[in-house]
Amino acid sequence: MASLTDKVAVVTGASRGIGRGIALELAKRGAAVVINYNASADAANEVVAQIEADGGKALAVQADVSKTEAAEQLIKAATDKFGKIDILVNNAGTTRDGLIMMMKEDDWDTVIDTNLKSAWNCCKFAVKAMMRKRYGRIINITSVSGIAGQGGQTNYSASKAGMIGLTKALAREIAGRSVTVNAVAPGFVGTDLTSGLPQNLLDQINKSIPLERWGTIDDVAYAVAFLASDEAAYITGQVLSVDGGLVMG
Ligand code: NAP
Repeated sequence: MASLTDKVAVVTGASRGIGRGIALELAKRGAAVVINYNASADAANEVVAQIEADGGKALAVQADVSKTEAAEQLIKAATDKFGKIDILVNNAGTTRDGLIMMMKEDDWDTVIDTNLKSAWNCCKFAVKAMMRKRYGRIINITSVSGIAGQGGQTNYSASKAGMIGLTKALAREIAGRSVTVNAVAPGFVGTDLTSGLPQNLLDQINKSIPLERWGTIDDVAYAVAFLASDEAAYITGQVLSVDGGLVMG
């Protein structure tokens, strides 16, 4: 298991679901973890309590990362508390699904801002601290929908495809300072985000996963922990799919 001892990580949207699992995994490997949340304060505090009970270090920070100023405050809170940032996981995300003719402008804006602008916001402020130290690991949580597209998700698919472009451009921009930038693209994982999918779509998804099961939160967290480790130093600008073979090539 790759060690993250003495590393400091910020995980956006770490109060629930995949972000929570990533935060717990990074902490298990020795990182101090900043648990960002927007609305779920109790859940975020519970993640902090769990990490501390296991002997780790954590801090819950409220910030709507779709807002540039709030993201700046999040990164400041992390460096104020722990002195540096080694790992940034841009995980916060949401959906507002619908066919394009029915989709409201606000559904487009909310999803683009929450999923894509948030990642740009957090990268913008975290890279300063990372470049100064000539060390950093940025991991953006994209999706199979950003690679293959998903009907009913023009907003979500565009936001996740945008994260892939951001990953590759930033990887080139800051590679000279030994900061790596990669993306993880989960397939389908059982969380609040996927709990409302219609049965016909579930049937279609279940038939098309070569490994014949949905992903677990741990499946995603292990991939993130690897990309966050020293062992992944020579990997940058890549998209690692964690989807049971759903999208290949
Ligand atoms: P989830 O269970 O709905 O959790 C979403 C998390 O994001 C929550 O912690 C939420 O915090 C946070 N969040 C939402 N808006 C935020 C904002 N403006 N500022 C800060 N935090 C915010 O979702 P999930 O399934 O774990 O998804 C996590 C990530 O994985 C997302 O980027 C999603 O697109 C991606 N993903 C998920 C799947 C899947 O099958 N589940 C597949 C592919 C990709 P609060 O509760 O405090 O609002």
